[in-house]
Amino acid sequence: MHFSGFRVIKEALTGHKGWKPLWRNPEPQSSYDYIIVGGGGHGLATAYYLARTFGQARIAVLEKGWLGQGNIGRNTTIIRSNYMLPGNEPFYEFSMKLWEGLEQEFNFNAMISQRGVLNLCHTDAQRDAFRRRGNAMLLAGADAELLDAAGVRAMAPFLNFDNARFPIKGGLLQRRGGTARHDGVAWGYARGADMRGVDLIQNCEVTGFRIEGGRIQGVETSRGYIGAKKVGVAVAGSTGRVMAMAGMRLPIESHVLQAFVTEGLKPVIPGVITFGAGHFYVSQSDKGGLVFGGDIDGYNSYAQRGNLPVIEDVAEGGMALMPMIGRARLLRVWGGIMDMSMDGSPIIDHTHVEGLYLNAGWCYGGFKATPASGYAFAHLLARDAPHDTAKGYRLDRFARGYVIDEKGVGAAPNLH
Ligand SMILES: Cc1cc2nc3c(=O)[nH]c(=O)nc-3n(C[C@H](O)[C@H](O)[C@H](O)COP(=O)(O)OP(=O)(O)OC[C@H]3O[C@@H](n4cnc5c(N)ncnc54)[C@H](O)[C@@H]3O)c2cc1C
Repeated sequence: MHFSGFRVIKEALTGHKGWKPLWRNPEPQSSYDYIIVGGGGHGLATAYYLARTFGQARIAVLEKGWLGQGNIGRNTTIIRSNYMLPGNEPFYEFSMKLWEGLEQEFNFNAMISQRGVLNLCHTDAQRDAFRRRGNAMLLAGADAELLDAAGVRAMAPFLNFDNARFPIKGGLLQRRGGTARHDGVAWGYARGADMRGVDLIQNCEVTGFRIEGGRIQGVETSRGYIGAKKVGVAVAGSTGRVMAMAGMRLPIESHVLQAFVTEGLKPVIPGVITFGAGHFYVSQSDKGGLVFGGDIDGYNSYAQRGNLPVIEDVAEGGMALMPMIGRARLLRVWGGIMDMSMDGSPIIDHTHVEGLYLNAGWCYGGFKATPASGYAFAHLLARDAPHDTAKGYRLDRFARGYVIDEKGVGAAPNLH
């Protein structure tokens, strides 16, 4: 089924009888060449690129609930490539380039909107740091602009410029950054993978790994044993629990991150704006709701819900930055489980078990990475070699001292 404007008009005129389900609902086969554990954004993108770009077949994605029930459907939809370190920036810029052609490529509307991401700075030192970051982005082929206070005021006059504690001195703007509809991304990848023969198996929880002689043989699931030559795990916040079944203890902690949406308002926020003196970021959805978030809840948890102290903290950040937000009525709050790595950067690597691979540690920035993560993980699975842009995302970097510590805060997951 091909989506197009014509198709929408035809269906509208013929009673919407021609729409078909976006993917099949197959029974699991007894074995596959590739099993991807986790039907979130990264797992679905991996299966899609394995089939589409790397020409592989006999692939299944096993999802314990329904496709997109995890963080891919819970995030605040921001995409950007405003990183600084050489281990990160080429990867995130690769992701941004994949975003730019994605909807045409998989013929699905993911509402990708490059409406700009503006990081505000509040001190001279912070502006210097943003200048350095912007230059690093330009060197990696990304776009970056440094705005002064007048430039920020022209874009977002409603911000609190007169705040004595947090004066706005300017901002780092990435115009190509923006937002994408998170469910649309999951559905687009799922549909694209299904069209290429990938079995998407829902309600199928992986409950163990069968490992013999140091090599993966397959996975135990709630729907029986399934054999596999290679298994790639992309379960985000559940990484610690799932990899423990393969005897691994990882440098990852699970924490809850909450998101907030207000009632629909007239268009006011031009893109994504982040507060530089606290942890608060905000954008406006196409329906008009202000979508915002801030810090993770500070304790470890596997529950997809958070607590009031962080809600208060996020609200305080919002009030400091744009006091008018106090007039908006909050409609919904929800949480997702973050796989916080010790240096804030991800892991895309093989494990000590032959044929078992790991994609994890996305902290709260993994949505923007979805295309590049899927591509790089598929590259690793198909060719047994890391993708050029993901060479630093090794699991042993913590033992070897080659951490990719973008924020320079050390092994403190709550600060990344
Ligand atoms: C509130 C919030 C806001 C965020 N905002 C942003 C943002 O603005 N920009 C950004 O870049 N990132 C953001 N993120 C982070 C981003 O959403 C995640 O890093 C990313 O989605 C994680 O990858 P995923 O999509 O594969 O994870 P998920 O969608 O969580 O996929 C993992 C899947 O694995 C499944 N699974 C777990 N255990 C098993 C098992 N045993 N067997 C089978 N399946 C299993 C789960 O059910 C789940 O569906 C945010 C996250 C949250 C929660």
